[in-house]
This record gives sequence, C-alpha cells and structure tokens, in this order.
Amino acid sequence: MKKSPILFLLLLMAACHPKQPTTLEEATLPEPTDSISFTPPKNIVLMIGDGMGLTQITAGLYMNGNKLNLEQFQYIGLHKSYSSNDLITDSAAGATAFASGKKTYNGAIGLDAGGKPAKTILEEAEAAGMSTGLVVTSSITHATPACFYAHERDRGLMEQIAGDLSISGVDFFVGGGKKYFDRRLDERNLIKEMEGKGFVISNFIDTDFNNVSIDFNKKFGYFTADAEPLPKSQGRDYFVQACQSALNYLSSQNDKGFFLMIEGSQIDWGGHANNSDYIISEMIEFDQAIGVVLDFAKQDGETLIIVTADHETGGYAINPGSTWDSIIPAFTTDKHTAVLIPVFAFGPGQELFGGLYENTAIFDKMNRALGFIKS
Ligand code: MG
Ligand code: ZN
Repeated sequence: MKKSPILFLLLLMAACHPKQPTTLEEATLPEPTDSISFTPPKNIVLMIGDGMGLTQITAGLYMNGNKLNLEQFQYIGLHKSYSSNDLITDSAAGATAFASGKKTYNGAIGLDAGGKPAKTILEEAEAAGMSTGLVVTSSITHATPACFYAHERDRGLMEQIAGDLSISGVDFFVGGGKKYFDRRLDERNLIKEMEGKGFVISNFIDTDFNNVSIDFNKKFGYFTADAEPLPKSQGRDYFVQACQSALNYLSSQNDKGFFLMIEGSQIDWGGHANNSDYIISEMIEFDQAIGVVLDFAKQDGETLIIVTADHETGGYAINPGSTWDSIIPAFTTDKHTAVLIPVFAFGPGQELFGGLYENTAIFDKMNRALGFIKS
C-alpha cells in the first residue's frame, strides 16, 4: 500500500510537535549479546559519574594533559537515559534503572513506575552472599546511592532513606549525610542502632578518612559531612582513598565476590552551576578513582568494571576560543539534558556492554554477567 504524502507529513508534524506526550515505548529488541560467551566475573564495580556526558569527559581529558584512565577501556556503548514519565531523567529515575532494570518516574527511589519496590542488583548480590559497598561524594542518602538500597516514593525523603540504609545489608559505605542518621525528627539515632548491629561508624569530626583504621571483621561506615561533602576544589580529599579502602575491605570478606557502587556525585553539580572548572576538577578526580579500580581489576582478573552516567547536565559544550589549548565552555541549560550517555566496560563480561541500548539494560547485563539471569 502506498502511503499518502499528506498522511506522512501529518505524522511527521505530530512526531515533531513539542507538546506531544514524552512517554516513549521502551525498546524491546532481542538482547544482541545473547550469543556472547564469556567467563563470569566474581565482582562488579559500577561507577557512576553523575551528569557525566561526553563533553564532561572531553573537558576532563584535555585539561588533564590529554590523558584519562578511561582510555584503557576497550568496550564502549551508549545508553538511552529517559525516564518513564519524561525525556529528561533525574538522578533517581536514572539510578533506579541501573539498580533495578525498571524505567520509573523522576524522583522515585528504587520503585517501579507503578510505585512498587523493585529488587536491586545490590539486594540480589546480598542474597547471593556477596559483599556490598557504596562510596560517593554526595550524602549517602542522595538519589543515586539511595536507589541501590532504598525504596521510597520521593528522593527528598532523606530520613526515610537513611532508615532504609540502616536495615539494608550494605557492608561498607562512605559518604555525607550524617545528620539524617543522628539528628532526626523522630529522634532515633540510626548510627547507634547500626553500631548495635555490627557496624563501626566514624565521621569527619572524629578523624580524617585518610587516618581511619578499618576493622575488616565488622561492617564499616564513615560520614564525610553532616549533609553534602565539599567540592574537590574546596578541600574534599577522601574519595580516591575511600575507593581503595572499599576494594581492600570488600575483597577480604568472603569468596563469593562483591558489588561496589562508586559515584562521582558532583560532576552534576558543576553542570547545574554552569561552572566548567567545577566539572573538570570533579571529572579528573573521578578518573583517578577509575584508575584505582582499574589497578585492582587488572591484578584481580575477576572484576568487571562499568563506568557510565545517569544523564548529562548543562548541555555542556566546548566552543572554539582564541587559543587551541583552552576550554571555552558553553551551556545550553542549568538542568539535565536527554543526550545519549556513554558506557565503558573492563574485565570479564565487558563484551556485553557494546552497542546502543536502554539504561535499564545495564541492570540486565550486570545480572547476566553475574549469572543471576539465565538466558
Ligand atoms: Mg547523584
Ligand atoms: Zn542533577
């Protein structure tokens, strides 16, 4: 049947109309990696640069002497970051997609689009006897880490999210947000409660992270700030060391392996502030953390590393300037954007991550890598 050119034009206009509903149908292509065979990894380290699009990576690369640890990754893909109710995702829906394989509404913490709790990769890892950890440069209750251990209807419910962490099976965590645990409206002291359940928890007031001693026979928590940690440029100095400590700790726990989520949280905040220097310093530190994890994985040989972002922030661009050796930044927005997001993989199972796929596929691929889903 021949299509009418007028019908085609109408369809095209409808497709381009800015007011059309932005709910997209999730692609249901067969997983193109089904035929790939690989040795399953024992450990997974998922590294999320919040708001880290290609331009953030590019700016960090050139401002770091044209060198990034990311260049060591041979398997690179792209993901579609949109959420269930918007072309532009927030960090909660973005992290829920990675953590649970569910597209959900912006603001949702570990719930599917219908509001039901979605089981996360971290919870699956715990059920399989693996050790689990979180290291972030935001509060530990912030949207990105929260989506791995909490199930709440809104990302702003920080004290509820802290409550979820206190009863989760997380073995090791480093991040801000102390006040959501020990200065709460309900007057519970979750730090005391967690210490009663086998945690040793210290904080930035008692001791600098770089001097803290870690008891490998207990669970470990460290609060780096009352609320949000400082930017790197203002003196935050725990992140790279905390990643190393997390690897030392988690790899010592048992022979079942571990799941570690590391977030460079503030690349996003530099984007919201339209501050190129902020983005670059956060990006370069995140890449240093990537270097630490790569060194571990190369030695260990059983660790799959995935590096990606939830979305891009700022519509960040590098424009031509008067000299070739400077970044002339530009921003199209102080919000998130809908651009495709790169995914980098290294280690056993890395082959699964080439291609162009939904953000939810990262959960599916991690599951497949660990053998949680038989396909
Ligand atoms: Mg985040
Ligand atoms: Zn943001």
